[in-house]
Amino acid sequence: MGYIYLVSFGDVEDRLLLADAGNIKEIFELEVRVATVKADISVAYNPERGQYHAGSILKYLSGIVYPNMVRLIALVGFDLYEEGLNFVFGEAQYGGKYAVVSTYRLRHPDEKVFFERTFKETNHELGHTFGLKHCEDPYCVMSFSNSIYEVDRKSRDFCPKCRRKLDYVLSYYR
Ligand SMILES: [Zn+2]
Ligand SMILES: [Zn+2]
Repeated sequence: MGYIYLVSFGDVEDRLLLADAGNIKEIFELEVRVATVKADISVAYNPERGQYHAGSILKYLSGIVYPNMVRLIALVGFDLYEEGLNFVFGEAQYGGKYAVVSTYRLRHPDEKVFFERTFKETNHELGHTFGLKHCEDPYCVMSFSNSIYEVDRKSRDFCPKCRRKLDYVLSYYR
């Protein structure tokens, strides 16, 4: 029996963390633990861009190991980028244990919309850690989102094809 650990950096509301923990539990059917990390991730900050480098955060996170940890995902309140891209909503180690999602570009006056967007990006990045690739079904949470429009279009759940692959991998942890 393992846990998905959820941690946060920067300005992330407790309400959102708890709601996202509920989302993960529902979609992945694994227990979730919200953990706090006292850490200085300023090494990932790029002052010229005013953004944090997603790959550096993942590298930093990979030094953190909790008991019975299946995966660790971080929600961060600041903007993320990757080389060659203006921004990224999140990033994950494909088939690895660590993922990060930024809430920075997901904000919306309607909290329900903001939370739902965060759930989608969380499930998408966790999907990558469980070995799922991008999916052509625009409603599948594994479809690639380059814009907030595409985030809003997709659902927070996996299409039947991705779900089958995911359940196969998850059965190992349940
Ligand atoms: Zn992706
Ligand atoms: Zn799919």
